Amino acid sequence: MRITDYELYEVPPRWQLLKLETSDGRVGWGEPYTKWHYEGTAPSATPAAVDQMMEKYVLGADPAPIEDHWQAMYRSSFYRGGPIHMSAIAGIDQALWDLKGKEFGAPVYELLGGPARERVRTYQHVRGHRDDAEDPAAAAARAAEREVDAGFRALKLVPTGGLEPIDTPASVEAAADIVGAVRQAVGSDVDVAVDFHGRASKTMARQLAAALEPYDPMFVEEPVTPEHDHALPRIAESTRLPIATGERLYSRSDFRPLLEADAVDVVQPDVSNAGGITETKKIADMAETYDATIAPHCPMGPVCTAASLQIDAAVPNALVQEQVLHSTDGAFRYVDNPEMFDVSEGFIAVPDGPGLGVEIDEETVAEFDGRDLSFSRPLGRRADGSVGER
Ligand SMILES: [Mg+2]
Repeated sequence: MRITDYELYEVPPRWQLLKLETSDGRVGWGEPYTKWHYEGTAPSATPAAVDQMMEKYVLGADPAPIEDHWQAMYRSSFYRGGPIHMSAIAGIDQALWDLKGKEFGAPVYELLGGPARERVRTYQHVRGHRDDAEDPAAAAARAAEREVDAGFRALKLVPTGGLEPIDTPASVEAAADIVGAVRQAVGSDVDVAVDFHGRASKTMARQLAAALEPYDPMFVEEPVTPEHDHALPRIAESTRLPIATGERLYSRSDFRPLLEADAVDVVQPDVSNAGGITETKKIADMAETYDATIAPHCPMGPVCTAASLQIDAAVPNALVQEQVLHSTDGAFRYVDNPEMFDVSEGFIAVPDGPGLGVEIDEETVAEFDGRDLSFSRPLGRRADGSVGER
């Protein structure tokens, strides 16, 4: 069997879907991550990297030796790692695993030694901080109640806007008000995670964590940006709250120092960012040896979500799975079996279809291909006009 063709689709809201075809008529899907993409422009960096590696190493090759393909794509680049290279590898790697599962008629987790569980816990996003509501805490509480009514048992919110390096007590109180209102609305039987989204300095991260402790968040995500992960041990030492990070880390090598420093309780590699199923499984296994759990980052499309569920199903230390399919308009239009993502009592059943388990509606994907993806991150500005985080 040989890989005979490939196609990379770009569909709204901001997803790329990679299709590999084989000489015996099989199709495998992967999802690289959209990056370097400003409003009104087509994504360019990741597709270029996918093209380079497909043409050089995968097109015309036997899809079976996934580890060998992975090593070739990784080590052939003298300048390796990082968000573009590892995301392009990830999309190709997922599609190769999808093909392998379909060849053996088995879900990917079966080929990885699983299943290690029957169902996967998932959480739903709730808007926390917002500038467009008179009472953001009340708005967040109402939204949280709605999601619990819809069947979710774990939620996540971002409790702050952009922050000053050392901000006022009022900014900390505003974050605590939001998390406190949500905790009061959902009770102590529902998990509420908070994401600082790298908006806090190491100083504000410690202050915020202390202020949120009474509300027992499930974890504090990205207390600081990855550039300042050196500060995580001190932050972790200062609070009893679990520390999570990893959506902007791309390999085992990136995670290793945090695990060695015992700075993190929950690792959050993104299976579409961190080298695909092959590398994410290894990150999960490495984390297990440090008594850390894995909560795969996944604010992306159905293939990334399905690939994440395969990892969750395969490893013993999966904590909870992020997904945005249930909060994104049109997310399921690309999928013929959306029921695989149904949430019951806060869990998604371990998928039972072959490969990644997701059946992509290629006609719809092709129909939406190339539309304006209109994705742009607004720039954060501090009160004095200088550029900050958001
Ligand atoms: Mg995050």
